[in-house]
Amino acid sequence: MKTTVTGFPRIGKNREWKKALEIFWAGKISEEEILQEAQNIQQQHFGMMKDLDFVPIDFALYDHMLETSFLLGVLPDQVQKSSLSHLGKYFALARGFQEKSVDIKAWPMKKWFSTNYHCVRPKISPETTWEADLFFLEYKSTLVKQNPNRRWVIPGPYTFARLSIIEDVPEHEWQQKLLQAYHNLLKRIPGDVQLDEPALVFDMTNREKELFLAFYESLSSYGERLFLQTYFGDVRDIYEELVQLPVKGIGLDFVEGSENLSLIEKFGFPPEKMLLCGIVAGKNVWRTNYEKALSLLGRIASYLPRENIVLSSACSLLHVPYTIEGESFPEEIENGVCFALEKVEEIRQLALLGDILHYQDHPIFQKNREMISKLTARDRDSLCLQKLSALSEKDFQRALPVEQRLPLQKEVLNLAPLPTTTIGSFPQTPELRKLRKGFQENVLSEETYKQEIKKMIASCIKTQEELGIDVLVHGEYERNDMVEYFASFLKGMTTTKNGWVQSYGSRTTKPPLLYGDVTRVSSMTVEWITYAQSLTTKPVKAILTGPITIINWSFCREDISLKEVAYQIALALREEIEELQQKNIRIIQVDEAALRERLPLRKSEWQSYLDIATSAFRLATSTLLPEIQLHTHMCYSEFKDIPEAIEALDADVLTIEASRSELDVLESLRTYSQKRDIGPGVYDIHSPRVPSAEEIETFIQKLLSVIPVEHLWINPDCGLKTRKESEAYASLQHMVEATQKIRKNL
Ligand code: GLN
Ligand code: ZN
Repeated sequence: MKTTVTGFPRIGKNREWKKALEIFWAGKISEEEILQEAQNIQQQHFGMMKDLDFVPIDFALYDHMLETSFLLGVLPDQVQKSSLSHLGKYFALARGFQEKSVDIKAWPMKKWFSTNYHCVRPKISPETTWEADLFFLEYKSTLVKQNPNRRWVIPGPYTFARLSIIEDVPEHEWQQKLLQAYHNLLKRIPGDVQLDEPALVFDMTNREKELFLAFYESLSSYGERLFLQTYFGDVRDIYEELVQLPVKGIGLDFVEGSENLSLIEKFGFPPEKMLLCGIVAGKNVWRTNYEKALSLLGRIASYLPRENIVLSSACSLLHVPYTIEGESFPEEIENGVCFALEKVEEIRQLALLGDILHYQDHPIFQKNREMISKLTARDRDSLCLQKLSALSEKDFQRALPVEQRLPLQKEVLNLAPLPTTTIGSFPQTPELRKLRKGFQENVLSEETYKQEIKKMIASCIKTQEELGIDVLVHGEYERNDMVEYFASFLKGMTTTKNGWVQSYGSRTTKPPLLYGDVTRVSSMTVEWITYAQSLTTKPVKAILTGPITIINWSFCREDISLKEVAYQIALALREEIEELQQKNIRIIQVDEAALRERLPLRKSEWQSYLDIATSAFRLATSTLLPEIQLHTHMCYSEFKDIPEAIEALDADVLTIEASRSELDVLESLRTYSQKRDIGPGVYDIHSPRVPSAEEIETFIQKLLSVIPVEHLWINPDCGLKTRKESEAYASLQHMVEATQKIRKNL
């Protein structure tokens, strides 16, 4: 059996690419230099994959959807005609560009399926030129030409279209143009091409199936060079047609694709085609169970010759860090963790064992069995389990319904109409980062560190009071990241030193590992919040990260159910919340930024997931007294299709991102705001642009046409941590000004 991986990380083993991008954007290195660095990184990657039979070339300077847009010519006329260089245009669409006469808005981003990676969403409109930018073809072609075992990876036409924003172009027209663009591109790409079609794992309608099939029938002349790759689930709606398509090979995910094996067993697999067999997880970090993987392979191997089976990762390794080298893990999981490099090695070992008749006797197999049995026999925390089993329905319910709670809260808080607030974090300045680094590296004592953080909190409170904000926050200065910070206080979670994963462009996160039963060891936020509250008579909101967001932005254990993990975290948060409540904190906010993101791709699985997610949230928050106000925050306002779940959180106030949305999203808030309070973000914090007071006022008026004044809050659409202080304060000032003006006329 041969070996490959679906895709590879891109950010560089020591984040070389992140650093290169940032100094390039700062104007400190030239275009030639950054392109040279791109070549270096890819050579580094080829070195890491040298033992594989086939190697993907899926590097992207910023993002693969964006890069493919350039290759296809899905480019706005304004950008293509601008005087910018090739790279200038590319980064303009990635990040926006504003200088003298040129003003290019960045294309929006979207989460890449069920991952925390954000891809760029290309726009197809009458302004699209459909003229490919061959510059991007050249920089990659050299890499392919050198080596015949390398295949070029791009999103396929169906997935590309599904993620694009298509505006004012008739269906048949964009379809035909897009297909022509793929023809032109495939003609130009030398050698094998992997077309990624993860969109096939969504539920598919007949029309979608027809469109997909028409695309690939039309590409049949390139068939002997094409691999059609799917991942993040199974292809139950299209399997029979899919395997008959005129392509050289098909990639299936056997980790998340629960039905893929039974589809092969039911309908067979064409023996002359290659099967890229995704058996090593690409989204999680636990060692592969060789016994299970090999038995699965054995079943597959009865349908096609072994030489046509290529072992692979279930999806791209983009979603895991490079290597465990240099990391140390808690004893329970010491040998149980693999990042990308170790996964490459696993694939190689599985291929080796897969070709041996009595693999059970092989030392590699036996060692794996030992590690797996250690991983599955993890110690359980009996106290934690006892608490879980003692739960009853009343633990998931607040004492009074929201209609009775809100008036009590309003009495306690006594806020002006249209109360103003922020989402939590204030700008994280270079000084703050230096301070945190000093503390981590033991250059600063804990005492000095804490004192410095407190100074920042004090100044943050003062600034907010001066700005005239009604509900204050402490600024989240002590948090490097909203999940990693909590992980460092929770038993059962651990953080890594260098486990960086790309989130988008040059942005990376370091997901913690959630490996054991989770319990709260000590209070996590109380000291900071109570200090902040002691400085002001205005209410200070305590801000916590919710259970699903902690799970989703970590590498979560898989030996127990999602429900059990979520409830454990909920109980830990509940303890924290009870403590805050005893300290006279009047408002608590539990962020569930990832609630929507983790929604399963198939609709049939939505309900059971949402039940778990919303119950965990209520479990964490239900002991709040009726007069304590519960806020929650979500980053994406895409919840038109899950309104009951948002309702089921039973929060008092919901703040969401909405500044870029149109009235139809507001419509979906109408029902919610009949009963509860809501704060749709009145300006976009993702951009350095400072909105004017008039602009915000207009937006608030628009909100007031849908939301009753007594239920409307005024706030930005997310935390301010990525903004400069000057930008953040100026924007907040305009926000308060706009609110005060409207209040006068109420
Ligand atoms: N409270 C967090 C902050 O303000 C929320 C961040 C988020 O929603 N991603 O930073
Ligand atoms: Zn947010």
